[in-house]
Amino acid sequence: MAKKNADVCVVKHWQEAPKLNEDTFNDDLMRHFYYTLGRDKLGESQLYLYHALAMTIRDRLVSRCRATNQFLKQRKTRKAAYLSLEFLMGRALGNAVLNLDLQSSVSSALQQYCTNLENVGDAEHDAGLGNGGLGRLAACFLDSCASLALPVVGYGIRYEYGMFNQTLEQGHQVEQPDNWLREGHPWELAAPEQSQRIKFFGHVETFQDKSGKEHRAWVNTQDVLAVPYDVPIPGYQNGVVNTLRLWKSGATDEFDLSEFNAGSYSEAVARKNLAEQITMVLYPNDSSENGKELRLRQQYFLSSASLQDILVQWVEQYGANFSDFAEYHVFQLNDTHPSIAVAELMRLFVDAYELSWDQAWQITTQTMAYTNHTLLPEALEKWSVPLFEKLLPRLLEIIYEINARFLKQVSLQWPGDINKQRELSLIEEGDVPQVRMAYLAIVGSYSVNGVAALHTELLKSGLFKTFYELWPEKFNNKTNGVTPRRWLAHCNPELSTLINEKIGAGWVANFSEIEKLRRYYDDEKFHKQWQAVKNINKQKLCDLVKKRCGIEFDVNMMFDVQVKRIHEYKRQLLNVLHIIHLYDRILKGDVESMAPRCVLIGGKAAPGYYIAKKIIKLINNVASVINSDEKASPYLRVAFFPNYNVTAMETICPATDLSEQISTAGKEASGTGNMKFMMNGAITIGTLDGANIEIRDNVGADNFFLFGAHAEQTDEIRKHYNPQKIISQDPQLSSVLRLLESGHFNLLEPGIFDDLINAITSPQDPWLTAYDFASYIEAQQKASDTYLDQPTWTRMSILNTAASGSFSSDRTISQYCDEIWRLSPMQ
Ligand SMILES: *Cc1c(COP(=O)(O)O)cnc(C)c1O
Repeated sequence: MAKKNADVCVVKHWQEAPKLNEDTFNDDLMRHFYYTLGRDKLGESQLYLYHALAMTIRDRLVSRCRATNQFLKQRKTRKAAYLSLEFLMGRALGNAVLNLDLQSSVSSALQQYCTNLENVGDAEHDAGLGNGGLGRLAACFLDSCASLALPVVGYGIRYEYGMFNQTLEQGHQVEQPDNWLREGHPWELAAPEQSQRIKFFGHVETFQDKSGKEHRAWVNTQDVLAVPYDVPIPGYQNGVVNTLRLWKSGATDEFDLSEFNAGSYSEAVARKNLAEQITMVLYPNDSSENGKELRLRQQYFLSSASLQDILVQWVEQYGANFSDFAEYHVFQLNDTHPSIAVAELMRLFVDAYELSWDQAWQITTQTMAYTNHTLLPEALEKWSVPLFEKLLPRLLEIIYEINARFLKQVSLQWPGDINKQRELSLIEEGDVPQVRMAYLAIVGSYSVNGVAALHTELLKSGLFKTFYELWPEKFNNKTNGVTPRRWLAHCNPELSTLINEKIGAGWVANFSEIEKLRRYYDDEKFHKQWQAVKNINKQKLCDLVKKRCGIEFDVNMMFDVQVKRIHEYKRQLLNVLHIIHLYDRILKGDVESMAPRCVLIGGKAAPGYYIAKKIIKLINNVASVINSDEKASPYLRVAFFPNYNVTAMETICPATDLSEQISTAGKEASGTGNMKFMMNGAITIGTLDGANIEIRDNVGADNFFLFGAHAEQTDEIRKHYNPQKIISQDPQLSSVLRLLESGHFNLLEPGIFDDLINAITSPQDPWLTAYDFASYIEAQQKASDTYLDQPTWTRMSILNTAASGSFSSDRTISQYCDEIWRLSPMQ
């Protein structure tokens, strides 16, 4: 009763809370600056002004967030939870200003402090809670869900240290911890009262309840607390604010108490550190598993905390009756990282809420949906059974039970075929048996999707072929997309203004309208305006490259850009071979048909990925030789962009002429960088891989520089691959390799690139770099010729933006919603 009265009282106050609007913006900002933060000076970095502005805007988000939650509380609505170990959010300020339509309020308020949004915004640290494409996809999806008014909550981890900061020393990558919370994170709101308790270690016992029924109890556990921090996710000018709930780990109180009482003060504090370790740092591996115990702890921590959170809310609202739970919930698993959620939901239903196995399994397999993100075998997560048994003994039991029942089904489908059972088992046999997390995800989900048409086809015909035969209805494709708010409206204001003048501003909310730009592809005046905007954006990138790399770019040269994680399959090496080839031609005086170009490469290598780090060193050495050669500078300049991140991409993609998407066919699941470039009018040079195929289909083959082996050919090529022969028969490639082997780029560092040379020349090279070289060079020459014909280039550029309509994550999310989630918008 007391609680009820208190709630009524709070709600009354809330409804009487002062209304925030345009008129109060200046005062609100000043109040936060002077009183909340206690400041009276601006300071060099404008850090406090940024914090005051962020809080002023957060106030406006909080009221909408409450309204959104209130709406959902009032009616029983089907909701989705997006579970992801990564959310690569970048900065929040500019996005919030755009989505809440606060530009004019903000700029007039900041005028009084003699500054502007751009300067103040630079004080914000990127929220780099992800590695690359997978984490950025999750961030784009949240923006689209809120903008489409869909009831979707993101669940992730509040890493104390996000993606490392990359610096260069003598051309080598050096990693520095990313202490992104040092100056505080003004967007989040902690909700410690909604903390959840997570079990680890211990053992399992059987006990009988009063009725004599047997149960399993996971006891003697070492519990950790999961504390939620909520980040508001504003929809685009629709009044919706969704939530990204990030969990931080901490010690439970009574655990410490008992040890304090026993006099073991230091041991108790040490335990506290152990609990806090779970969410200390993001694992910096993109597309590769690494099998560390702490990583499994993170995965279980996220999965358990998020599922408990949802079950607790359900029980609060509807009691412990789960008969229609599956009608109101869906969990989307972003890759296998949170796939332990399948077993955890079973555990919660069976152990905590005492559902029968069959009922629990029915609900679980009607609520889980799994997105696969990669075909690379080294990325397929497996956890050793002994590790599982030690860390999560009850979960292992449940996985065994799921497996036993599943293998029974397999034996019915393929009677007497022991090999099928071995092949499909959730447990891989071997010296140390392993739990196959992807198989757990497939068996436990009603939907399994790939992230581009080719990728999904390859899943069905390769990696998951037998599962596809068993359950064809589970498999579907959802081609990735990116949000046009951040990746065009926000990051390219000049182009946005130009587009608005021609086709209106409807494209920001309804990106298929961008197609209307096609009408202007041959309009001479529009060409001039388009080029002028590109030049402004190139000048901005020039300034940034000068500041960050110390290299002078020239807006009159073609900007040829490859930014993404450094990985062999993405073939930054192939790009370097082309750069060396151009340099070789310059040395030989063969510059007649060469469009002058500035090549920019950026990206982080996983700290333990030896070859990727060598590739960074090679790029830097090649850049240094070329940039210090006066003969080269009119034709070719090369820079490595350090610490590539979301904020860097916001300046890079609007300025790019040529987008490098050159992975070995069949290896890039989708790519999303390719889409950001396309939206901003870059033309792609690329292989038939991932979403490149769909990009080319949409823009037309004439407006895409295609090269390279096709995915269906690559296995055959690998069988009799002889790069030495290819090299000896190709004078251009021979010449490039001769330069490399001569040590021209490592005169004072003999032998350091031998491993890279060996990789290219090895018949075992899975990436087929030498194979694709000739067609790549040819496509590059075509790009060069086209660039020299500016009217043609400009037309192609406009057509790329105009054809990018289906690469909005709004399209992707609409499809998730229609075909997997089946949610209704909240309006
Ligand atoms: C979009 C994006 C990626 C993904 O790029 P791909 O080219 O698809 O690999 C990675 N990192 C950042 C910072 C991005 O913005």
